[in-house]
Amino acid sequence: MPPLPLLPISVAGQWRPGGGDEYESLYPATGEPIARLNAAGVADVDEAIAGADHAFRTSGWAQMLPHARAAVLHRVAGLVRERAEDLAQRQRLDNGKPISETRALVASAAGTFQFFAAALETLEDTITPSRGAYVTMSVHEPMGVVAAITPWNSPIASEAQKMAPALAAGNAVVVKPAEVTPLMALELARICEEAGVPKGIISVLPGKGSVIGDAITKHPLVKRVSFTGGTATGRHIAHIAADKMMPVSLELGGKSATMVLEDADLDHAVNGVLYGIFSSSGESCIAGSRLFVARTIYDAFVERLTQAARRLRVGDPSDEKTQMGPLITARHRESIERYVALGLSEGGTLRTGGVRPQGTGFDKGYFYMPTILEGLTNQARVAQEEIFGPVLVAMPFDTEEELIAQANDSVYALAAGVWSRDFKRAWRVGRAVQAGTVWVNTYKQFSVSTPFGGWRDSGLGREKGREGIFQYMEQKSMYWGTGEQPIPWAD
Ligand code: NDP
Repeated sequence: MPPLPLLPISVAGQWRPGGGDEYESLYPATGEPIARLNAAGVADVDEAIAGADHAFRTSGWAQMLPHARAAVLHRVAGLVRERAEDLAQRQRLDNGKPISETRALVASAAGTFQFFAAALETLEDTITPSRGAYVTMSVHEPMGVVAAITPWNSPIASEAQKMAPALAAGNAVVVKPAEVTPLMALELARICEEAGVPKGIISVLPGKGSVIGDAITKHPLVKRVSFTGGTATGRHIAHIAADKMMPVSLELGGKSATMVLEDADLDHAVNGVLYGIFSSSGESCIAGSRLFVARTIYDAFVERLTQAARRLRVGDPSDEKTQMGPLITARHRESIERYVALGLSEGGTLRTGGVRPQGTGFDKGYFYMPTILEGLTNQARVAQEEIFGPVLVAMPFDTEEELIAQANDSVYALAAGVWSRDFKRAWRVGRAVQAGTVWVNTYKQFSVSTPFGGWRDSGLGREKGREGIFQYMEQKSMYWGTGEQPIPWAD
């Protein structure tokens, strides 16, 4: 086979090979290369940020009237929709998610641009009650150059979630996608340019986070970092941000509790719990990875769940019917295998899974079977640490009080799910559980109009929602003197 053509990256409006090492992006279902590129080098970071700063000051993007900038973002949404199938197929190759999921992520990216375009056009500054001879206003200004650092698990949707509000606010954006999934951010940048975002306003710098991400975060011209990824990386970025006095938003890890009460609609709960943990192969920050089931129904429920997990269609991501594709890399699968071995060594037993699938189609990719561990307490490391794979830890509970105490006994607090037909109980538990998002009788549903983020080690700040644009703006109070007399200072 001839070598793949070298994929250019986007540096300050120029599409060219990065200055870093050459590498290949692999299709996780087969391990075959699907793209060849040079990562960005540190010199590219400097050039991209200087270029972004220049474009911010000179291109007119920041000064465009809101409806005009919104029109560009609407065009981005339109182009993403026009190319949806191509984007979804590329994303499938880039990160191995089943095609049905990548189609949904592409649709979500288009919806995000559309939402922030609409939000921008209707955004209001406020006139505040004045206390003197002046009119007081609270207005917002773009920040300048902002950075978006994203992980590999939901490309295009993660990038859109940051790029759309940052661009709507009038900023220039430097995007650092995960090294293993560079394609979607690059495609989105091309689409943005085609839609009318001035050259230089967006740069996309794939490469190692510890080098490229670090250089971006520390750069003095970067005024804000929006980060999605692991808690350790988030903490590191927060330290740098503290030194620079720079705002950050951190969307971090999770170990979300899903709670099935005795009176739950069990058909819905089985489906919801399965979807919550095994969709995206469990490579999801909001995966419902700790399951608490009322002891009176525990055995029957976990048995139903086990049977349903065994029926899940694991396999070729290009097949419309596939529910679980491969994991992102061989290394990540090994880390999941180590966690399952740890769970067993902690005294856990396997209801199902704990192995790689065998047979045709599974020999080269990084597949792993849906896995249910039980016989452990919430103190087990597999119940406390984020595994980020298709591994569910199931535990029984006796009382509501004990349930809430255990659900909240985690350093993470990103999401939770409650399954109950008793609306008063569901309300009580939903309010008592500490998490950025709580689903009641549903799970993993998302709306761009609803803020998203975590408590505790799951993060800082919120994304989405109309107010999302303001996170990428500086607030300014203006006092406009209206008095006929001088300020009563000199007599
Ligand atoms: P990482 O934190 O390792 O990486 C996330 C991004 O940060 C990647 O682009 C990575 O680059 C980059 N990065 C790594 N080190 C640095 C650094 N020192 N400075 C700046 N950037 C850096 O997370 P994973 O890729 O392992 O992603 C999985 C994690 O993301 C999980 O913990 C998951 O829960 C979390 N996540 C949270 C979500 C949320 O919304 N709360 C949503 C999705 C995932 P590279 O990998 O290319 O080296």
